[in-house]
Amino acid sequence: MMKDFFSKEQIDRFYELISAANEVVILSHTNPDGDAVGSVVAMKRFLVLEGKKPTVIIPNRHPDYLSFLDPEGEIIVYKENKKMAESYVRSCDLILALDFNQLSRIDDVERVVRKSLSPKVLIDHHPSPEREPFDLVLSETEISSNCELLYWLFSSCKERAIPVDVAEPLYVGMMTDTNNFANSVLASTFRMASDLIGKGVDKEKLQHLVFGGFSESRMRLMGYLLSEKMTVLPEMEAGFIMLSKEDQEKFSFAEGDSEGFVNIPLSIKGINISALFTESEGVVRVSLRSANDFSVNKMARRFFNGGGHERASGGKLFIPFGKVADYFVESLTKSIEEYRNGKN
Ligand code: 5GP
Ligand code: MN
Repeated sequence: MMKDFFSKEQIDRFYELISAANEVVILSHTNPDGDAVGSVVAMKRFLVLEGKKPTVIIPNRHPDYLSFLDPEGEIIVYKENKKMAESYVRSCDLILALDFNQLSRIDDVERVVRKSLSPKVLIDHHPSPEREPFDLVLSETEISSNCELLYWLFSSCKERAIPVDVAEPLYVGMMTDTNNFANSVLASTFRMASDLIGKGVDKEKLQHLVFGGFSESRMRLMGYLLSEKMTVLPEMEAGFIMLSKEDQEKFSFAEGDSEGFVNIPLSIKGINISALFTESEGVVRVSLRSANDFSVNKMARRFFNGGGHERASGGKLFIPFGKVADYFVESLTKSIEEYRNGKN
């Protein structure tokens, strides 16, 4: 079973590069989510079966609820272990970049990667991938998760069956990037899910580990934000949530606690655009979602120093948190005008 996302030449080239390598560094993006961690862990386990020595490096730590994907704690977090991460990048003979489209998405790791002379492969599902630093780019932007892309890539090789310990992280990435099979799901996504369950993936267990492991304080924060910090703009078909530092402290906020919050305004009738603004050290993190063909990717590029997918994007703002709401309304007004004129 193979979906023709890539040409035979691209797939052959991928396996050629893998065959020629021994020490492989696998990277994914800052603030890694389920698809990022699922991708790097699945690739690592796949390469171990190929007899390679893979090392996973991520720029900062993944949320706690994904730790079950790395039970031995083998993932190297650059922010916590710079020297070791840099030495792996320097000595490896292949770099695989997964689930991000621009090297700037790996922050300080970018500098080290650019210095490396080893071959580099990008496997990603975001629009407009950066091609220049890579020897091979496997990009498919129609697909909802990078893990689905890896699944079709691994399945392209008939003699390599996907074992359950590779199937599990792939399933997690597919489940989280589709927001539990709600967004951007293709027929191929269900085929993949069906095949992985046939391979022994315990979907109830994964469902519980990923969506059933939230803390009480996270739940109370969500209730508080929805009641007190969500603004709905019916005439713009938009809703947004403000998550300040003060509220993070009040509710013992931990990385990953706001996962999914940005989708909530979209469940209000008539709301098609949503945003979450999170106050952080010297920066405001921006998450944007759309439920129709309004492109939050264009909006993120133009107004929020970011990008992403057409219906799920993110970025950063460097203005005081108190000015963010007005800035959002202004940029949304301009973006909607362009959308109505057919330019967004
Ligand atoms: P999230 O809202 O879940 O943080 O991010 C949604 C999507 O937006 C991500 O999958 C990623 O494609 C994109 N994204 C998030 N933050 C950034 C950013 O700072 N820069 C760019 N270019 N894309 C981002
Ligand atoms: Mn992804």
